[in-house]
Amino acid sequence: MRGEEPVVIEALKVRALPEGSHDHLLEFLRLYRDAVQMVVDRIWSINDRLSRGKLHRLFYSDLVSTGFRAHHAKEIYIYAESLVESARSNGGRKPVLRRLSARADRYDYKLDLDTMTLTLKLHNDYEAKLKLVTSSERVEKFKGWGNYELVVKYDGSVFWVSVYFRRAIKPLKPRTVMSIDLNFDNITLAIFTPNGKLIKLKRFKTPHRKILTHRIWVERIQERYPRSWRFIKGVRKAIDRHGERIRSISWDYAHKVGGMVAELAFRHSSLIILEDLEKLRKNNKKSRKFNKGLGLWFYRRMQFCIEYEAGERGIEVAKVNPRGTSSKCPRCGKKLAEKRHRILRCRKCSFIGDRDVIATINLYKKYIKKYSRCGVSGVALNAPKLDENPNGVQGKGDEAMKTHQVI
Ligand SMILES: [Zn+2]
Repeated sequence: MRGEEPVVIEALKVRALPEGSHDHLLEFLRLYRDAVQMVVDRIWSINDRLSRGKLHRLFYSDLVSTGFRAHHAKEIYIYAESLVESARSNGGRKPVLRRLSARADRYDYKLDLDTMTLTLKLHNDYEAKLKLVTSSERVEKFKGWGNYELVVKYDGSVFWVSVYFRRAIKPLKPRTVMSIDLNFDNITLAIFTPNGKLIKLKRFKTPHRKILTHRIWVERIQERYPRSWRFIKGVRKAIDRHGERIRSISWDYAHKVGGMVAELAFRHSSLIILEDLEKLRKNNKKSRKFNKGLGLWFYRRMQFCIEYEAGERGIEVAKVNPRGTSSKCPRCGKKLAEKRHRILRCRKCSFIGDRDVIATINLYKKYIKKYSRCGVSGVALNAPKLDENPNGVQGKGDEAMKTHQVI
């Protein structure tokens, strides 16, 4: 990858049907595997890390004289070198290749996404034509992307092609900061201007209660059939069905909300701040985020989708240690006490606020404190002023969010 421009890489893996005989393709895959093995064997006996130039001098002419094209040869020795390197760094044995697979760079294939055909250049000037078996909708998004490498595999009965698509994205220059607090029943996000003014507050309900219902069903079934549930087909099926529901509810939700969050960040040119979940786990195992039987996995999935969608839009994402962010006063730093449901109050400076909104303010402040010198340019170190009624708040019980006072 050259330059500073960030890129998004995505692989499209599809089944491929050879048009006509696939003899030459299979022969190519075998030759390719054997050539990689030959290079691996020779590098293994040399106890030195080889430069690209040295690899080229050692193997290029041999490979080309066996019938490989120039770029095949290059792919072969680079791939072999990477196999040896990773085996050595893991303290493993010499790699032995069994599977039939070959990598081709963009000089050695032609891909037509309109007709879904792939033409591969093989050894000795042979060519193979393959039809990609997938829906045109799946391919649609990659039109206009660059494709730079692909991998062809044969698993004994079917050919598979993975095409790596690449798209450059223009990094978004942040003008505001969005902090996101993930909770059991909601996701709260707040957008702050560089001088600490809250300009947007939004809450999304999470599907945790729905997920929990399915969890409880699974537990009930397991209790009813202690030990034996794994062996009774009907019971196992019922459990699988609930598991499937949990998976689809959480992925659907994470995709949808991840997209909405990133879109909002894009519109406000925000840098996104997330909680560092690794730190969260070390901080406090009894954190309120982990109660009620739901672990880290949902938060991870949520963050994965936010980061992915942000990456696609050139939005920067930063993580901060969430320690204390939902329990300390954003004005004076003292521990807050619960005033009533969801509302926290500081005994020292009498600051009052919604629990989740307080967390977003604290996340924002932590970020500013940590990165103000190299992060968002012009971001002031003063505390945010919550002197306006937040808009865009969803759900019930949000009158609490209007009780903020100026910090
Ligand atoms: Zn206080």
